[in-house]
Amino acid sequence: MKLLIENAHIATPLGNEAVRGAAMGNICEIENAAILCIDGKIAYVGKREEMDLKAADGAEVLDVQGRVVLPGFVDSHTHAVFGGFRPDEFEWRLKGDSYMSIMERGGGIQSTVDHTHQASADELAAKTRWFTERMAQMGVTTVEMKSGYGLDHDTELRQLQVIKSLQEDADRKVDIISTYLGAHALPREWKERGTTAYIQWIINEMLPKVKGLAKYCDIFCEKNVFELDDTRLLMNAAKKMGFDLKLHADEIVTLGGAEVAAEVGAHSADHLLHVSDKGIKDMAANGVVATLLPLTAFALREPYAPARKFIEEGCAVALATDLNPGSCFSGSIPLTIALACIYMKMSVQETITALTLNGAAAVGLASSKGTIEVGKDADFAILHFDNVRALPYYVGMNCVQQTILRGRVVYSEQPLPLK
Ligand SMILES: [Zn+2]
Repeated sequence: MKLLIENAHIATPLGNEAVRGAAMGNICEIENAAILCIDGKIAYVGKREEMDLKAADGAEVLDVQGRVVLPGFVDSHTHAVFGGFRPDEFEWRLKGDSYMSIMERGGGIQSTVDHTHQASADELAAKTRWFTERMAQMGVTTVEMKSGYGLDHDTELRQLQVIKSLQEDADRKVDIISTYLGAHALPREWKERGTTAYIQWIINEMLPKVKGLAKYCDIFCEKNVFELDDTRLLMNAAKKMGFDLKLHADEIVTLGGAEVAAEVGAHSADHLLHVSDKGIKDMAANGVVATLLPLTAFALREPYAPARKFIEEGCAVALATDLNPGSCFSGSIPLTIALACIYMKMSVQETITALTLNGAAAVGLASSKGTIEVGKDADFAILHFDNVRALPYYVGMNCVQQTILRGRVVYSEQPLPLK
């Protein structure tokens, strides 16, 4: 299967690992470019006239008329497998109800856990598939999805099996990386025994069963949820069993999750609204990707994570949506880009790196995804525009005209006239 993209304005970071610090602003742009894709991989990138025409023999030709071609976006943090919805709770929050009073009225994570327990695998899969179609429309070609709404043996496994079945679907719209987040909250039935006993149960009973289903092990490291010692206990045990590691860290208060992420060798620490200066330095020194989730801060009316500080200290920053039914029911890539540029003061170029190569690094795929280079997967987001600056300029609106996953067009819309 061959696809030849012609008249492309390529804009891509370069390399097989996360880009750190000021270098995040370096984007390679090539106008009048051609991209040849063979069997889902990129076989040639560069000027049309320098291409070996024979190699393109028999290729389907896609003329993009000067439009921008980016690497497909990587949404490296979502909770897109869940039962139920929580719109009432959103309204209570707008009216000023506290977290505790929302829990008492039957909202909060327990509401999603109860609905997820009741949902069949087919019901969960149908809903998550709908989200993946929306993601593809916004140029996402790879997404990370977490379990964490079962918090028991069967439902956690069901969530992970749903993710696996979606990834095995030949007609899927996005590639999916799977994360086990059994340590999302302490389940009701474990209140008496406490967090450490629950973490021990996860280590002994769940991790061996989750092994073939999830690439990552994650934990909600937060005051009064799972604190630093529980986090170390789980992360070190998971690492020994061959899991790669992620942490929800320093979202609500400054606890030191970023420092622990550096200590245990996590691929990413995520949220980081209240990260300490030492946490930033430790993450930079140990190559932990800082995955920032501006939609959540926006939806909760919280301050944004200090993106500029991370970049100035030499960290690699990734951006993701945090799509989930509670704190942030949005998977909007356009709004993520707008918030990053307008409120977190990231440049357009840094934002592109954060949503492509650095997102790929945050899910361990930097050598196969995240840039437009020979040998990588042919995953692209083609914009309506011929200028990358349109991304934040068209505020909160979708700029993506076509999405290509492994050389296959998975989304296409009537193009906007260029003039
Ligand atoms: Zn999360």
